[in-house]
This record gives sequence, C-alpha cells and structure tokens, in this order.
Amino acid sequence: MSYIKVMSESLANKIAAGEVVERCSSIVKELCENSIDAKSKNIIINLKRSGKDLIEVIDDGIGMSYEDALMCFKRHATSKLLKEDDLFFIDTLGFRGEALPSIASVSNVLLKTSDGEVGTSLELIGGNLTKDQGSDLKRGTSIKITNLFYNTPARLKYLKSDQYELSSIVSLVERLALSHPNISFTLNHEDKNLLRTSGNNDLLKTIHEIFGLQVSSNMLSINASSDDYDISGYVCKPEVLKSTRNYMIIMVNNRVVRNYDILNYINEAYYNYKPDSKYPFVVINIYTDPTLVDVNIHPTKQEVKLSKINVLKEMLIREIRRALDSKILAPDVISRLSNKNIIKESFIMDNEKKEQNHSQITMDLNVTNDLETKEEVEEVNRSHELKKLTPLCQIHKTFIVCVNDEGMYLVDQHAAAERINYELVKEEFQNRSIKRQSMLIPITIELSSSDFIKIKENMAFLDSLGITVEEFGINTIVIKETPTWLKTGYEEETLRAVIDNILNDNNMDQMAFLERTIQTISCKMSIKANMDLSKEAMQVLLDRLILCKNPFNCAHGRPSIIKFSNYDLDRMFKRVMN
Ligand code: ADP
Ligand code: MG
Repeated sequence: MSYIKVMSESLANKIAAGEVVERCSSIVKELCENSIDAKSKNIIINLKRSGKDLIEVIDDGIGMSYEDALMCFKRHATSKLLKEDDLFFIDTLGFRGEALPSIASVSNVLLKTSDGEVGTSLELIGGNLTKDQGSDLKRGTSIKITNLFYNTPARLKYLKSDQYELSSIVSLVERLALSHPNISFTLNHEDKNLLRTSGNNDLLKTIHEIFGLQVSSNMLSINASSDDYDISGYVCKPEVLKSTRNYMIIMVNNRVVRNYDILNYINEAYYNYKPDSKYPFVVINIYTDPTLVDVNIHPTKQEVKLSKINVLKEMLIREIRRALDSKILAPDVISRLSNKNIIKESFIMDNEKKEQNHSQITMDLNVTNDLETKEEVEEVNRSHELKKLTPLCQIHKTFIVCVNDEGMYLVDQHAAAERINYELVKEEFQNRSIKRQSMLIPITIELSSSDFIKIKENMAFLDSLGITVEEFGINTIVIKETPTWLKTGYEEETLRAVIDNILNDNNMDQMAFLERTIQTISCKMSIKANMDLSKEAMQVLLDRLILCKNPFNCAHGRPSIIKFSNYDLDRMFKRVMN
C-alpha cells in the first residue's frame, strides 16, 4: 500500500502562493515585473482599497498570443528560462513561472492581452478558467485581480491595515521606477494619482519625480568600473540623511535587491559624514556578469549573493568617499517660486557645475526649507568659500555666534574643535610623522584578565599610534610614552578612551578601527560644550576651523556650523519676498 502521492496542481499553486504572494504589494511586484520583462514603456497601476479590492496593472509590452495567455497560468510555465544553463544568465525579473498561477489560485483574474495580432480575454476564478473570449486591446497586457484571498481566509486575515498595505505598494513602485528610469510608471489609488515618472531614462529626474527637489538637489553622482563590477548612481550629501535604511536602494543588474553586506559598506563610506543613527539616501546600480550573481536563493528574488564581494566593497567605499570628499558640502539651495523648466535646466546646470566646482567649497543651509510653501520651486546654487569669521558671543557656553560679510553663523564649539583635532591627528597618521615623548608620570591601568589579553594582542597597534605600552605586573599595563600630538591635560582621558575602543572592538577592519580611534582621540582632546570661552579663544577656534578641509561636520558627521546668509535673514524677516 503506498501513501505517497503527487499533490494536485491547484494545491501546489496555493502552497506556492503562500511564498510568492504574501500581500498586495507582492502581487503588484510580480505583475509589474512581468510588464517590465515584456519590454513595456508605460506601466499603469490602479488600486482600490490599497489593492485589497482591486489590483490592476496595464502595460504596453509585447503581450501574449492566445496560446500563451492560456499557458501562463500553468505552474512553472515561463517564456524566460528554457535550459538549465539559463539559470546563470538571468536578465529577466521573472523566471520561475510561479507568479501567475499562484496569484490566480487565490483570487479572480481578468486577463486581457494582445500580441498585436490576436486579442484575448480570459477570466479565472481560483485558477479555473470561467470565460474565454476575444479582446480588442491594442498590443499589451492588462490584468485585474479582485476577490483576493477569498479562498484562503488565513491569508486574508494576515493582510495588514489599508494604510500599511498601501505604503508598501508605494515604496515598491518607487523602487521599480528607480530601477527602470526608462519606463514610465503611474500609480493611482481610488482615482487619485500617487506617483508618476516620465520614463525618459534619467535617473536623477526620476529621483526628483519621486522624492522631490529637496532630495534630488542634494545628490552626488557616482560612477566607477573595474573588471568585475560597474557601479553608478547617486548618493546623498549629508543633509538628507534618513533615520531608516529604507532609502538605501541597491540594484544589481537592474533588479532591486536586499543585501546587508552592501548596505554596511555604504554606511561605512559615510562614516564621519553622519551619525551612526542615520542612514544615507542612495540609489546605486551595480552591473556585473550574471554568473557572479545568485538570485535564486529566495522565491521573491530580492536577496542576492555576489561573488568577489570584497572587490565591490572596496570600489563602493572608494567611490562614495570620492564623491563626498570632492564636494564636501551641499550647495546652498534656496527654493523659490518658478516654473518647471527652470528645475530641469538647473539639473543640467548642476551636473555641469559638479565638474567645475570640484574643489570649491560650498555651504548648505537648511533653514530656508520651512519657508517654502509652493510645490514649484527653483534652486539657486551659490557656492562660496568660508571667509574669515569674527566671533560676537557665546550662547549657553556651547554655541558661538559669529559673522562675516556674507551672513551670520552659529558654530557648535565642541563639534568645531573636534573637526580641527580630527584633521590634525589624521594628517599626523597619514604623514607617518608620529613623534613620541616620555610621560612624566607614567599612567598605569588595571584590567580584567580577558581585557588584559586583548590589550596585549593589540600592543603593536597601540605602538603604531605612538603609544608605548608595557606590561606591569598581573593584569596591569603602564603607558610610558605618548605621541606629541596628544594635548597636555587630555592625556589620561584620551588614552583610556583608546584602550576602551580596543576592548569594545567588534571585529572592525583595520582601517575602520583606526578611523574610529582617530575620532575618539579627537573628540576627547576637544573643547567641550558648556565651557566658557574668551573672545580670543573663540577667534583661534574659528580661524583654525575655516582652514579645515571639511569645516562643516564634526568627526562623527554632526554639523559643526550653520549659516544664515544675509539673504536668508532678509527673507526670514520678509524684507525680501522671493
Ligand atoms: P515568470 O515571470 O517567472 O516567467 P509568471 O507566472 O510571472 O512567470 O508569468 C508566466 C509567463 O507569462 C511569463 O513567462 C510571460 O511569458 C507571460 N507573461 C506574464 N505577464 C505578462 C505580460 N504583462 N506581458 C507579456 N507576457 C506576460
Ligand atoms: Mg513573473
């Protein structure tokens, strides 16, 4: 007697649906990806009640013949993967042939499609064909999904609130549009337009259409090639940081992917330009030989594994740093009333200027943003060097108010001092010009035995910093020599912070570790907040700050200086109205 049976196709479809179609956004994803694979130029998505009542996707792609239209609802039927070898050369978004049968098994489907010759209209309920007739649709495909999860109540219950389902669809369509700037996407919900891109193949324009001027005018372009990878796209200046990783959009061969390693590399590149709690806004395309990519590890195909990931890591970090360093600051963007053409022109101008302004220092000013009220805005890109600053007073023993003929500035005294020290210490390291001096009174530090072992393992690293450490009895070390850059009065605190850094190190690589140590050192040696400063001391600080390569952020990426230009002051007090 045998108990093992092959399950029916309809049961297999329902089970697969559990994996492929979790929620409304997964259906939108599968349908849109099919439209993209079908070489569509325009894709329109219409929703009712966040997709729960209706999901309709209309495209102008290659369409299907009558036979293919019948075939596409069969499990593992695909036009995209024919030989097993093809699995390694995937350039389409779909390939499993699972989506349509899975979706159809848990809903009502109305498919209209035409390959330009024959128009077909099919209706299915729970995957069973109920109507089959001709259609007058011009070339392309439209699919309407209603009654979703009517036969799988558990799934239906699993759907989240309308708001949640809708926001995941919006974020999905944003990503699809960003990964395909050559396709126009339109998303409508209950007859209200939520998103529209023009599909003119300009990524920056697409970013603008989706996220607005505030974001698009603060992006830097990146572009680099190696034997294994080409990367291109846009990364944000530190002014548009986000508090979630959701705006770190990574595409591999035009497919939006999830890969935590890559996100970490990008974060590492921003190190020093942002606080740890913030994430950059990036849209990065990675192109590589499809054989280096394994997209097959999850049915929703978002997770990828890449070979030679270290090559990619190095490239990403180097290129993003180059972009950030080359234009340390955001342009001074003032948004004003204007018409859309000016926006477009200013994009082009901005791109051209990017080349010319390579080393010119420009400044940001976000204070004007609250004042912008109209959606049509113009950007004025005023770049300038930071001119000598004269201190006026200190506020709350923490901020310095200062001026020059361009406007008024607020400087965070600790952030400024930290930036100055950071650049100073970093230069010492880069020049390898570390000189040592003996400590008058050597510092002894007692440690737990496990910490002691860790410090002993890192003696060479400490030595490379110019810190001479020796063992001094059981679980105790003594610091005999310190580097000359270590400021008098700050020795003990700084040295203890470096030791703590080593003890807390969680497997950072050598470069990142050195960087963090330099940050710690510069932070500890700096004037703190809540400290009285004389006018002279303020002047010294400001004079040194304007000589910094990047006077605008502290070593941890917080802002160190905020500018109110004369124009902004006039505008805030409504002395000028535009
Ligand atoms: P896959 O995309 O993995 O091939 P699907 O179940 O999503 O599997 O689709 C099955 C097949 O139906 C596709 O391979 C394609 O040939 C056809 N198809 C689906 N949607 C469209 C569309 N919008 N335009 C043209 N053909 C389509
Ligand atoms: Mg598909």
